[in-house]
Amino acid sequence: MPHVVTQACCADASCVHACPVNCIHPTPDEPDFSTADMLYIDPVSCVDCGACVGACPVGAIVPHTELAPEQQDFLQINAELTGDDRPSRPQARVPTLVRLGPTRRTLRVAVVGAGPAALYAADELLRQPGVEVTVFDRLPVAHGLARHGVAPDHTSTRAVADLFAAIETQPGFRYRLGVDVGTDVTAAELAAEYDAVVYATGAGTDRPLGIPGVDLPGSTSATRVVAWYNDHPDHADEYVPLDHERAVIVGNGNVALDVARILATDPDRLADTSIARHALEALRRSRVREVVVLGRRGPEHAAFTLPELVGLAAREDIDLRVDAPAGIDPGAADSRQDRLKLEHLARVAARPERSGRRRIVLRFRTAPVEVVGTVRAEGLRVVRTDLAPDGSGRVGAVPRAGTEETLPAGLVLGSVGYRGVEVPGVPFDPVTATIPSREGRVLDGVGGRVVPGAYVVGWIKRGPRGFIGSNKTCARETVNSLLADANAGLLATPTPSGTR
Ligand code: NAP
Repeated sequence: MPHVVTQACCADASCVHACPVNCIHPTPDEPDFSTADMLYIDPVSCVDCGACVGACPVGAIVPHTELAPEQQDFLQINAELTGDDRPSRPQARVPTLVRLGPTRRTLRVAVVGAGPAALYAADELLRQPGVEVTVFDRLPVAHGLARHGVAPDHTSTRAVADLFAAIETQPGFRYRLGVDVGTDVTAAELAAEYDAVVYATGAGTDRPLGIPGVDLPGSTSATRVVAWYNDHPDHADEYVPLDHERAVIVGNGNVALDVARILATDPDRLADTSIARHALEALRRSRVREVVVLGRRGPEHAAFTLPELVGLAAREDIDLRVDAPAGIDPGAADSRQDRLKLEHLARVAARPERSGRRRIVLRFRTAPVEVVGTVRAEGLRVVRTDLAPDGSGRVGAVPRAGTEETLPAGLVLGSVGYRGVEVPGVPFDPVTATIPSREGRVLDGVGGRVVPGAYVVGWIKRGPRGFIGSNKTCARETVNSLLADANAGLLATPTPSGTR
């Protein structure tokens, strides 16, 4: 009777370390860990002890006898992801945390940003005796994207707040919320005040869609809509017109799927979630019946992950349609998880229409051309695409002449990824929109020299990819560098210039 990893998997790998028989993969030291959509349990090796259940911060692991109907697909997915070619290991490698030398005075560390990466970093630091951590955030509330990014109906994922609450109550932890580093306090002032500063500022804005008409009212970004329905204090007044029967989302990552699902969900089903009241009221008045999610390339390049597809496809109340003009070929996948994703997509595509329900259309090989409208968005002009190498080693989307059409819509959302924002006084690479770094140490430029006492973690370190739990291993790397530098005497003694 194996346990099963389900949709909410956050990939922080706490379960891997809790498992006594090493049946959860990929482990952080296996090559596919960084690219896995989710972890999975080898059903043959699982001894059903349940140790992983308590370790998982998001309630994603369930005994197979207790799977809800919409989770049943994950039983087979766990089994199929288990490779018979995987070398057996006696147990998961637990990355060693560097120990702080015994003779040091209290090490005072500032963490800038209060999202998942910040809190995992604080947790790693507070495992050492004699460390104090002060977490700064521009907003008056903490938890970053775990609060303002996770969809309100993903209640399991939102349970990670309990883990963060446990981190916050540790001795030595303190918040300074409502403080904008770079404005209210400078990076130089922080560097003078603390032994070390860890930048965990995430990716605070969107990648621009960059097509004509994108600034029309009713054309905005999916992440702004996410912030709107998640009660982000800066986005309560966001203009989100829901008075047309179609909305179009450009890009098909997990953010696009989240927004499409919320727009297509009966508001009564959302009433007991954390959704902002203003958004719930707007959704009650919504006329949206169809959300079209555009992927400029093919199904084999879809950015949404397997567990999110499975979760959406299992929704009885939503008619999920697939428009893949060149078909779906699981043989085109270059990994086991992508093959499973394509097989699942093909099964969805073959399902009969579920009439009378709100519809989400996953439309492939369709690129945006222009948001059309006079005083507000009235639709999106799109073009069919062909695939061809783009010269950078990637397969690109090439517009096919003569295939342009306009999709009438009252809401057009770009969902083409997040982008990091520069903190004044801190090095920044505008190409990757990250702080240049090596093993978590900030560099004064790409490939440059280490900036003593400055560290970086999370999306502002590695770009806007991965899940909440991906920040755990990322934080361990950065904190190890910080502690090694402290032990080597490479951190300058703080020189406070005023009161704390
Ligand atoms: P993403 O996964 O990077 O997806 C971006 C999408 O935008 C891709 O489909 C990409 O297509 C498309 N795109 C980029 N530029 C475009 C352009 N100019 N025109 C048309 N399409 C364009 O971004 P995301 O959805 O914002 O997600 C960010 C990260 O957060 C991901 O790692 C995601 O898994 C994670 N996340 C996870 C969850 C969850 O687990 N539930 C929820 C939300 C976010 P191409 O591939 O063709 O470039």
